Order: sequence, then C-alpha cells, then structure tokens
Amino acid sequence: MGLLDGREVTVLGAGVAGLTLARALALRGAEVTVLEQAEAIREVGAGLQITPNGAVVLEALGLGAALRAAALPAQAAELRDGIDGGLVLRMDLARRKSAGWHLLHRADLIELLAEGARAAGAKIRLLQRIEAADLSGAVPHLVTAQGTELSPALLIGADGLHSHLRAALNGKAAPFFTGQVAWRAVIPAEPGAASVAEVHMGPGRHLVSYPLRRASLRNIVAVESRSGWVEEGWNLRDDPIAVRLAFEGFGPRVRGWLDQVEEIWLWGLFRHPVATAWGRVLPRGFVAILGDAAHPTLPFLAQGANMALEDAWVLADTLDRLGPGAAALAAYQAARVARCMRIVAAADGNARAYHLGGPLREIAHLGLRIGGRLAPGLALSRYGWLHDHDVTA
Ligand SMILES: Cc1cc2nc3c(=O)[nH]c(=O)nc-3n(C[C@H](O)[C@H](O)[C@H](O)COP(=O)(O)OP(=O)(O)OC[C@H]3O[C@@H](n4cnc5c(N)ncnc54)[C@H](O)[C@@H]3O)c2cc1C
Repeated sequence: MGLLDGREVTVLGAGVAGLTLARALALRGAEVTVLEQAEAIREVGAGLQITPNGAVVLEALGLGAALRAAALPAQAAELRDGIDGGLVLRMDLARRKSAGWHLLHRADLIELLAEGARAAGAKIRLLQRIEAADLSGAVPHLVTAQGTELSPALLIGADGLHSHLRAALNGKAAPFFTGQVAWRAVIPAEPGAASVAEVHMGPGRHLVSYPLRRASLRNIVAVESRSGWVEEGWNLRDDPIAVRLAFEGFGPRVRGWLDQVEEIWLWGLFRHPVATAWGRVLPRGFVAILGDAAHPTLPFLAQGANMALEDAWVLADTLDRLGPGAAALAAYQAARVARCMRIVAAADGNARAYHLGGPLREIAHLGLRIGGRLAPGLALSRYGWLHDHDVTA
C-alpha cells in the first residue's frame, strides 16, 4: 500500500494534466476531487499529437486501448516547401519500435481521460472556477467564483496557461510575445487522406496539417510571424479570410485546405519562463503544479500534452512513494525541470527554423534534402532523447 491510500487530493483543472493525474492518483488509492471551471467537459480545441513519450503514460494507466480507438496512428511526418509543395524531408514514424505516434482530437483525449478518471473513482466537479488562491497560511486557501471557500490540505494545480497556483507560488510572470500568431481550424478530410503530419514551410509562416477521427477530419495549425500583438488564449475567433490572405503565396494544396475553413481560432504565441517553484510544503499542507501551469510551451514540437502526461505520472508516483512533503517535491522537480526546460527550448528553436526566408531558406532546405536522402532516420533520431524517454520505466 502506497502513502496515498485514502488521502484526499484536490486537483484544480480538468485538462490533460489534471485528468491524467486524477486517474493516476485514484488508481493508487487516493480520494480525488477535480475542480473545473467549465460547465461541461465538451468539444473544445482541435488536433493534438500524442508522441511515444506521452503514449507510454496512457499505456501504463490502462488507457492504451482507448487511445488507439480514438486516435489515428501517424505513418510519417513530412517537411514540405510551402511555395512549390516539394518534399524537403520525410520521417518515417510507423517503423519505430515504440508506443506509437498518435493523431487525435483534443476533445476525444479529454473524454477518454475523464472516463478513465471517473472509472478509477475520481470525482469531477464542474462550474468550479477558482478566483483566488492563497498559500500563505497553514493550508492552501481557495475561493471560487460563487464565493465558496475551500482549504484542501493536498492541492495540485493543473489549471493551465493562466494558472492561479503558478502565480501564487512564483509571483506574476511577464510572458513575452514571440511575434508569432497561430490559427487553428478543422476541415473535412479528402477521401483516403494519408495519416501523415505535413509541415509546409514558407518565409515568415508555416502550416501544419494532419487527419483526425478515422481520417474524416483534417486538423490545421497555421503560424505567421507578425508585429501586432494578439491575446494568448484558446477562445478567440478570427475571420477565415485572414488566414487565406496570410497564405495566398502558398501552393494549391495548402490554399485548397484554407478555402474550406468555415470557423477559425487565433492565438498569440508567448514565451513563458519555466516556473522556478513547482510546489510548496505548508505547515499542514502541500501544493504542486504540473502541465502548462508549470511550463507553457510553444506548439512547434507538439509536446504540451505529452509533457502534461509525463508530469502526471511522475507526480503521482513520487507522492505515492514519498508522501506529500519536501522529499517528494524535491524528487518531482529533479525529475522534471531540466527535461521540460530542454523541451521548451527545442520548441522555441523550431519556431525560427520553419520561418527562414531568402538564401538561408534555400541552404536549410538543401541541407535537409541531402540529409534525408543519405540518412533518412537521422532527423528523427536527433529527437530520441525526447520521444524515447519513458517516465514509467
Ligand atoms: C479550450 C482549450 C483548447 C485547447 N486546444 C488546443 C489545441 O487545439 N491544440 C493544442 O495543441 N493544444 C490545445 N490546448 C492546450 C493543451 O491542451 C495544453 O497545452 C496541454 O494539453 C497541457 O494541458 P494542461 O492540462 O496543462 O492545460 P489545459 O489543457 O489548458 O487544461 C487546464 C484546465 O484548467 C481549467 N482551469 C483553468 N483555470 C481555472 C480556474 N481558475 N478554475 C478552475 N479551472 C480552471 C481549464 O478550463 C482547463 O480545463 C487547449 C487548451 C484548452 C483549455
């Protein structure tokens, strides 16, 4: 029996991190309550990629079959010249010996995680928006939008990008605008769409697309460098004409997709420092954060959800072995901070590489083409440290 058996744990946020953690803790015997601001666990967001390092966590939590039922296995990732559509580099994803590379709708992932959390005994309470968090007393103190006061001794913050608990632990961070914005949309997929993640690169912009839901839908994320500031969040709509104009110089494949967009969301891409403090031991309480609350990342390595899955496994395992105290907090940070910093920095680097213009672009594409021909597995093996990492091993 682990140290969590019978312990009450409150998890703030029913996103990828919060729901995964809820299942992991409940399977270890904890009495878990998840507080979520939304009125329903509903269809929000667009596509996500679950890479092998995230898939191993779902497997270890007994959700591998649910993942495979909801997701499409990715065969390959292709980098293409956005203007002429030519192939720059193809990376074979299917031949790798691993838990697999999965393409799925965020709503389907949230649904399978919520079912998994409930099946393990966790309670999910909706319409619980936390407006204030105070960690200066003996136990954490929360106030909801309805004015209810809560004092959970064991509190975990999985409250995403604008986390209250991150701010309570670290003070207010000043994220900085990267000068890039991203649109996301979902369109019907063409019949027989191959399960390939395509990256179309052009000067100052790139577009990522892959099929979803038994290849009936196609996910699109289009990124543009620009000077004007755009809000950071998941709910800002834009006019589809804006993305068509931004990508009018791209080839017919990309323009054809964008012509079909009916609804589109825009988000400003901000760089956030990885949190310095991931938790605190209080006189009679314990607090920790995970997922985007601890380390929001740019989307250029598809690791936001995967890091959240890894964090959830490590945090549940550490708390169960060491109990909620200084040793667990130190072990959790030691296992996660350096890895998450490396991933966030690598995603920052990709942002620049995809948007090259002028002669640099020609040189970079030529290098990738030659490299891909001489050693096709090399580009992907550069990321072995990322995708082959197994936090459950
Ligand atoms: C609506 C939405 C759509 C998204 N769409 C995409 C997408 O299309 N592609 C992509 O790559 N990533 C998307 N993401 C982000 C992606 O899910 C995360 O980057 C990643 O999965 C890390 O997960 P997380 O659990 O840390 O954060 P999130 O998945 O953001 O979850 C945080 C959860 O906490 C809840 N919450 C926040 N503040 C409070 C509060 N004060 N009180 C109570 N609850 C609170 C939120 O409602 C949310 O459910 C989306 C996130 C959201 C919330």
